[in-house]
Order: sequence, then C-alpha cells, then structure tokens
Amino acid sequence: MEKKFDSIVVGGSISGLLCAREISKFGLSVAVLEEDYEVGTPEHCGGLVSLEGLKQLGIIPSSKAILTEVNKAKIVSSNQGFEVCTNREKIIVLDRRELDKQVAFQAQKLGSEIRTRSLVMSVNYDSSKKEFKIKTKDNIYYSQFFIDARGITSLINNHTRDGVLQSAQYEIYADWIRPNEILVKFDKEKYPDFFAWIIPSGNGKGKFGVAGRKINPLQTVESFIESFGSKYSIIRKIYAPVWIGGPLKKFVFDNTVIVGDAAGQTKPTTAGGIFSCGMGGILGGNHIALNKKSMIKSLGIDYEKEWFSIFGKEFQRMLFFRKIMERLDNKSIDAIFSIISDSDILEISRSANFDFHSFALSKILGSKKAIKLISTLLGNEFRHLLN
Ligand SMILES: Cc1cc2nc3c(=O)[nH]c(=O)nc-3n(C[C@H](O)[C@H](O)[C@H](O)COP(=O)(O)OP(=O)(O)OC[C@H]3O[C@@H](n4cnc5c(N)ncnc54)[C@H](O)[C@@H]3O)c2cc1C
Repeated sequence: MEKKFDSIVVGGSISGLLCAREISKFGLSVAVLEEDYEVGTPEHCGGLVSLEGLKQLGIIPSSKAILTEVNKAKIVSSNQGFEVCTNREKIIVLDRRELDKQVAFQAQKLGSEIRTRSLVMSVNYDSSKKEFKIKTKDNIYYSQFFIDARGITSLINNHTRDGVLQSAQYEIYADWIRPNEILVKFDKEKYPDFFAWIIPSGNGKGKFGVAGRKINPLQTVESFIESFGSKYSIIRKIYAPVWIGGPLKKFVFDNTVIVGDAAGQTKPTTAGGIFSCGMGGILGGNHIALNKKSMIKSLGIDYEKEWFSIFGKEFQRMLFFRKIMERLDNKSIDAIFSIISDSDILEISRSANFDFHSFALSKILGSKKAIKLISTLLGNEFRHLLN
C-alpha cells in the first residue's frame, strides 16, 4: 500500500509522539511509524521526571501513569554519602507504557495516524520531487518531512558510539525497598563513568539499574541487587544502552529533522531524557509546521536555536562535570563527598531544579574546598578542562 503525508515520524516514543502532536495541531497530516507492537512497550526507562517538566511538555499524567512520588535522594560513594530532600518540586516515577499511550492519544485526537508494528527498513530522499520514500515491510510512505525519532539506535547507526554506555534495569519486588527514596551509587570500579540507581516504583517495587563503560550489565545489575538482600522477585528486565555524549551539533539536514535521543538530547550526567527529548520533539514539530505554512524560513536554525537556548549551557556544564567525575577514582569521590557541608546540602534541597541540575552539581564540585581538592587531584588536567 502507498500513502502520502506531510510528515512521517519514525519512532513512536515520547519525542516522536510529541512531535506528531505538534504537527497535527497545525492541521498537517502526519503518521508515526513504530516498530514495536504496542506504544510504550517494552519500557526502556526509569520514569523519573518532574511534574513541572511534564507540564511544560503539555502533559498532565493520568493517575494510572504515576507509580509513586519521590521525596528524598541518597547519593553514595564507596565510603561516603549524603541525602538531599526533593520536596521543593514534585518528582514522580512514571509508568512509561501508560504515559506514552497518553501522549499517543493526544496526538491521535488531533489527527496523527499512529501505526505500530511498522519497522522502517529504508528512508530515501528524491531531491527532484523533494519527497521522502519511507519503506516498511508492508507499506511505502511518501512525505515532505522525515522526522528521525528512532532513539539511540539512530545515533549508533549514523553518528558515533563514543557516548554510548551499556545499561540494564530490573524492576523487582522486595519488602526491603525504601518507598519514596532514590538511591544513586557511585563506584568507579563497578560502574565506570556512570552509577547504579534505585528508583522506587510503588507497592514494594523498585527499578534497580546500572550503566557503565565496558561492563557486563546483566552480572553487574544482579550483584547490585544482591548487595541489598537475597530475597526478591524479578518482575521485568531490560537491557538498553544509554547516551551520555551530549547533543549533536545539528538536528536538521534539509528536510530531515532529528528529535529526542536520536539527536543526543539526553542529559550527559544521568542520561535522563523525558523532558529534554520531549522538548526536542515539540520544538522540532512546531518548526516543521511553521515552515510548511511559510511562517518561518529556516527550519534548522530556528529549531536548533530554540533547543540550545533552553538546554545548551546546561548541557555544556553537565558535560564539564561529567569529565571531572570520569577522572576521579573512588578515593577522590569519597574525599569530595566528605567535604560537602550541611549548608550546601540544605541549599541544594531548597533551590535545586530537577530538570536543570547543574546548580546542584556546582554546589558539590564547585565549592572552594572541592575545587582545591580537585585541582590537587587532577593537577594540570583540571586547568586543561577549565580552559
Ligand atoms: C535504563 C534507562 C533508564 C532511563 N531512565 C530515565 C529516567 O528515569 N528519566 C528520564 O527522564 N529518562 C530516562 N531514560 C531516558 C529516556 O528513556 C529517553 O531519553 C527517552 O525515552 C527518549 O525518548 P525518544 O522518543 O527520543 O526515544 P526512545 O524512547 O528510545 O524511542 C525510540 C522509538 O523508536 C522506535 N524505533 C527505532 N527504530 C525504528 C525503526 N526503524 N522503525 C520504527 N520504529 C523504530 C523504537 O521502537 C522506540 O519506540 C532512561 C533510559 C534508559 C535506557
């Protein structure tokens, strides 16, 4: 079967669905092609997000989509640790299977066509007709715009592997899981260049995850879980890479618009992307629609400029903090955690912003004492990084 649309979005997750929703708002035709059988499934996400961030994405999550709330974050290294209270903002844990379906419904109500079980096998551009030809096993689609929302697969296939870390997350049931409390555990030897985490998911459940460079994610996540207790039941296992390499320099190539994970729009510190990737989808979609309606001339410059004006500096700071953390060993991280003052912790609890957390990082790594320690530990390398 052959079909024509103004735009085709490949990838029916948060960024692709929000992009389609925005395009549909302007009355343009758009189809979302998703390879999986069901939107939101399998769930490759911890689901940790701020309610404010979701609001900015135009989403009020249904009660079914909210698994639980979080009010405390415990950050630990091998021998030190501190706790931050997150009550200033409402941080929730989402069921991404439910949330993505909710966004799919928003998009579909506005006119988007969502097609699951539609693995896109090829995308070709005919410059004489100014048209994309997009093939799935059963259909051929034609469109003026192609939106690449294929997630990290797209980055791995088309760009670079440097920013990719292996990761695994098990959702388990155990009576020893602390409700409403996130745990972030740094250990350079076990989780090189990243960390392990626990995100509570309500009713005695929790998502236990690890990511790191050159790790065996399965073995690493299982020994992380077992370090807490041997009595637990595994409900769900996922293995998925995460991207920590920062955004691509360009998100638009002629009429190809890249959004979300595919554009590297995940936070380089935590690989969290619901908010920043979702914003990529919204801004990309808006600009496609405005460009089609001849209300803006430059699709690329406008979308890129807007996304970078919101996230550019923040992501640069995160990349800087990441570079420092990558160079510190367990002893040095212990030393930095040991000098964090109670007043810094209080200020982080009072003022930190979940979606723009470089402020919190600057409190931890940017205090006079910490800078002195880091420059002693890293010497010339630190001056190099600062430059
Ligand atoms: C283990 C883990 C935990 C995470 N935890 C959090 C968290 O707690 N908070 C947070 O904010 N972020 C988290 N993230 C990141 C977040 O999940 C992503 O940033 C976000 O889902 C990116 O959305 P996206 O739409 O850009 O891409 P994706 O969600 O990756 O979606 C890409 C979609 O494209 C489809 N697709 C790919 N290729 C094709 C093709 N050829 N044809 C058709 N369809 C195709 C895929 O099936 C998929 O549905 C986590 C990620 C991982 C891996």
